[in-house]
Amino acid sequence: NREEPHYFGAGPAALPTDVLQEAAYDLISYQGDAVGIGEISHRSKPAIKVIDDTKANLSQLLNIPDTHEVFFMQGGGTTGFSSIVYNLIANYAKRHGGKVGRAAYAVTGSWSKKSSEEAQRLGFEVDIVVNTKDKKFGDIPPYSEWKPIAKDTAFLYICDNETVNGNEFKDVPSEEYLPEGVELVADMSSNILSKKLDISKYGLIMAGAQKNIGLAGLTIYIIKKSLLEQPTDDELKSYGIPLSPIAFHYPTVVKNNSAYNTIPIFTCHILQLVTKRLIDNGGVAAIQKINEEKAKILYDALTSFPGFYSLPVHNPAVRSNMNVVFTLPNEELEAKFIKEAAELKLTGLKGHRSVGGMRASIYNAVTLDSVKILVDFVTKFAKENS
Ligand code: PMP
Repeated sequence: NREEPHYFGAGPAALPTDVLQEAAYDLISYQGDAVGIGEISHRSKPAIKVIDDTKANLSQLLNIPDTHEVFFMQGGGTTGFSSIVYNLIANYAKRHGGKVGRAAYAVTGSWSKKSSEEAQRLGFEVDIVVNTKDKKFGDIPPYSEWKPIAKDTAFLYICDNETVNGNEFKDVPSEEYLPEGVELVADMSSNILSKKLDISKYGLIMAGAQKNIGLAGLTIYIIKKSLLEQPTDDELKSYGIPLSPIAFHYPTVVKNNSAYNTIPIFTCHILQLVTKRLIDNGGVAAIQKINEEKAKILYDALTSFPGFYSLPVHNPAVRSNMNVVFTLPNEELEAKFIKEAAELKLTGLKGHRSVGGMRASIYNAVTLDSVKILVDFVTKFAKENS
């Protein structure tokens, strides 16, 4: 057992204690057997059931239509950056008689920036349709201000929630902006299952598990089935399109029910338990309501001391409901803030090393009670040190 933590780490992040307790038993002995969940074959019946149940839970929670498929891969979000572009450019060639498509990226924070750089590094044609780096990623401009999507574009890539910079998309690109046939791809590593989604709007959603819903080691993909069609390897070579590594070739992974190679079944089991718990607690609609309240009380507390706390995301409309980023007047006060917070057992509040300041990650597993304690501290600290 453990004392309930008030832990605001950005990832790996807090998980529900009851899930960890159940998983800990299962790691030693699964369903009464002498072996644990991490020791059984990934092709055994119980392992396949873990995969299938997790997929079914995700489908139920996100209302995933028949047009879409869920699968899992290793390699984290960073492997998503590479695998997305290989697979979707191959699919575009299949749909367009061997044509090599382009990729459009919205750079709204450090993760979308990294992803666009990886696509370029791999040799693909990349258009940056919006880049807010000069404005320190403090806003997401309206689509009407983005560069138009170029002809022959296979997909538009966005990072739905920028974990480091603390901004979040609150809608999807309008039909006027996104031409028919250009697929919307979203990295939801830090906000999947935090809010309701219309899955039919997306060609592909990619999300590392280790922030909002599980442990590191597994990445969730939700893909429109038609995007799984690809030319043969020989055809791709003749078009001059590089082949994806086999472990990250989406059609192969899907054909093998996410177990083409060894899937980390313990990590998948954690995901199974987290998603089951979410279903039992009222699903995504219920957690969304709580998440919105948590974010509201924390932003309200911070913005009521405008000379003391600064919010780098200056447009309130795009502030993240998951990662609340703020700074104090100077580094001494920031150090004092961290120290006094730790005395109250409020931990994990230091900002990402690339931007400094503070970051409170208030993912699904962080309770409203924990956020209320943080709000009281934030308020008291500002009063005492202003
Ligand atoms: N995308 C987002 C939004 C992230 O927050 C992160 C950080 N974990 C990544 C991608 C990279 O994930 P990973 O470390 O699993 O490669």
